[in-house]
Amino acid sequence: MTTAAVVGSGPNGLAAALTLAEAGVDVTVYERSSRIGGGATSSELTLPGFLHDDCSAIHPQALVSPFFRHVDISHSVRFVRPPVSYAHPIDSTRSALAFPDVTATAERLPSRDRRRWASLFGSLADRADAVTDLTMHPLVRPQSLNSTSLLFGAAALWNSGGVVGGFRSDEARALLLGSAAHLATRLPSVPAIAGGLALTLQSQTVGWPVPVGGSQSIVNALVDRLVARGVSFVTDCDVRDVRDLSPASLRFLDVSPGALLRLVPGLPTSYRRLLRRFRHGVGILKVDYALDGPVPWSDPAVREAGTIHLGGTPNEMILAERSARAGRMPDRPFVIAAQPSLFDSSRAPVGKHTFWAYAHVPAGAHHMSDADLIDDQIERFAPGFKDLILQRSVRTPHQMQQHNPNYVGGDFTGGTPNVRQLLRRPVLRAPWRTPHRGTYICSSSASPGPGVHGMAGYLAARQALHDLGWSPTSEIGEQ
Ligand SMILES: Cc1cc2nc3c(=O)[nH]c(=O)nc-3n(C[C@H](O)[C@H](O)[C@H](O)COP(=O)(O)OP(=O)(O)OC[C@H]3O[C@@H](n4cnc5c(N)ncnc54)[C@H](O)[C@@H]3O)c2cc1C
Repeated sequence: MTTAAVVGSGPNGLAAALTLAEAGVDVTVYERSSRIGGGATSSELTLPGFLHDDCSAIHPQALVSPFFRHVDISHSVRFVRPPVSYAHPIDSTRSALAFPDVTATAERLPSRDRRRWASLFGSLADRADAVTDLTMHPLVRPQSLNSTSLLFGAAALWNSGGVVGGFRSDEARALLLGSAAHLATRLPSVPAIAGGLALTLQSQTVGWPVPVGGSQSIVNALVDRLVARGVSFVTDCDVRDVRDLSPASLRFLDVSPGALLRLVPGLPTSYRRLLRRFRHGVGILKVDYALDGPVPWSDPAVREAGTIHLGGTPNEMILAERSARAGRMPDRPFVIAAQPSLFDSSRAPVGKHTFWAYAHVPAGAHHMSDADLIDDQIERFAPGFKDLILQRSVRTPHQMQQHNPNYVGGDFTGGTPNVRQLLRRPVLRAPWRTPHRGTYICSSSASPGPGVHGMAGYLAARQALHDLGWSPTSEIGEQ
């Protein structure tokens, strides 16, 4: 029987394990932490009874991803769709809102952008599955060149000029730029805007949902499937050398390119050089709050949103992101926040709330006091917020890396998703296969990149099955 060892139990490691187990491979998953789940665990980070997401919190990608559609966890996990997918307060009087509906989003925008928004996102929504296919399999394939990729590519190019060149109002620009900033790469640039278009589209189609019970419930659903398929787990096991994993005939590494270099001896010089050239980006500073009540937003409409982008005007956001990339702590960092307990009562005791927030800051930054800048940015749009804080849990980029070595310098994207590193992630052809026979990289440092979609693991496993001659009918990378 073919045996496989999966190193790392993040969403991609679990996706690889499940794909292999479904094909009849005998799989063991090794995890350095005492808990399974990588970037999708939930914990009581502040006070008893307050359940926080350690990393990821908002899961449109788990709804649209071909891997998750294939495993269908909808019977085990309840996703709640907030009435407003995300809100972007621009100043004390104006907020932009993305509803899970293109027309509703467009109607709330200033009149000069309404038609443009409805036309662009209406066209993309009509081809939502094709857009998912394009962004979740971002390899250059002949079949990728079609009317959807032309429309999507043109929209990304057009809107990456100036300050989101396709729109005129701060509201429309802020909506798109806020989503683009999730990519944590240069803003605005073609890859950032392309990612932003995909996320903004999802916010208006499937919504930006929160799972009841936290991200952990997604992991639990996958683990149930894996156990049912006979997959074994070894926790508290920091794998340092793939040779320790023998006699497994296949090895899947849910690790960073730097760790891959350390784990796999004897890789050819050319491959080592490519991995050494791989670049990580800004770090993240994360703050989780236990609150005595809901956040008192100046604009009450923001309370309807699951996710909030706290960056002010588009120009302000661009400056904050530029500053972080240049290694300077922004005075007013761009903060991505979520208020899950408003939509999932399992997250906090009655009347209390959890609040999840992080900002892009210089890689490796380690000052706990920087977290005060996040408090200030929230207070700016919600006066009285600080008075509600019962407890705070802060993790600097340095601590994020200690928590999970895949977050190099606190970079949670697995490597800056710029044009080069989207095409070569980490290499151009068959990106999951390494020159070490039977060894594959399956983390977010491999195509298609960051997010809880499981696609790097799914595609790496399918690549391995294809290499073994097992691939049934479809080409690797197709559903
Ligand atoms: C603060 C934050 C917020 C985020 N928000 C979202 C969000 O809202 N929605 C979303 O879709 N995505 C979000 N993400 C991104 C998402 O969490 C990641 O892209 C995703 O978890 C990557 O999955 P992965 O399997 O590649 O790696 P990871 O989830 O990082 O898992 C890697 C695992 O491998 C283990 N490991 C590493 N090296 C070894 C070794 N040598 N031996 C054994 N085990 C090892 C690690 O301990 C870890 O458990 C967020 C990330 C962070 C940090």
